[in-house]
Amino acid sequence: MEVVELKVNMHCKCNACAKIVRKTLCKIKGVKGVEIDTILNKITVLGYMNRKDVVKAVRRTGRRAEAWPSTCGVEAPSPRLPRGFRCIIPRCIVSKS
Ligand SMILES: [Zn+2]
Repeated sequence: MEVVELKVNMHCKCNACAKIVRKTLCKIKGVKGVEIDTILNKITVLGYMNRKDVVKAVRRTGRRAEAWPSTCGVEAPSPRLPRGFRCIIPRCIVSKS
């Protein structure tokens, strides 16, 4: 299981944009889960895929993807995958009132 963490400029913080990126990433072969943090501009992808494919997919949506800086040289503890983990739409932080 691979964990790819990327820093992605989400442009705006609305749920629709996160949804587009999530949908694109979920289409990559081998991807088991996608988490998008619109506050940190961080995307975490779990599965059996290629890091390059993830970066390419994000770029296809017109956003810039970089490696998440904190992972440089440090072996991050691999997160435990919860049972039934699937592509999840992150909670929208923008209220539409
Ligand atoms: Zn948006």
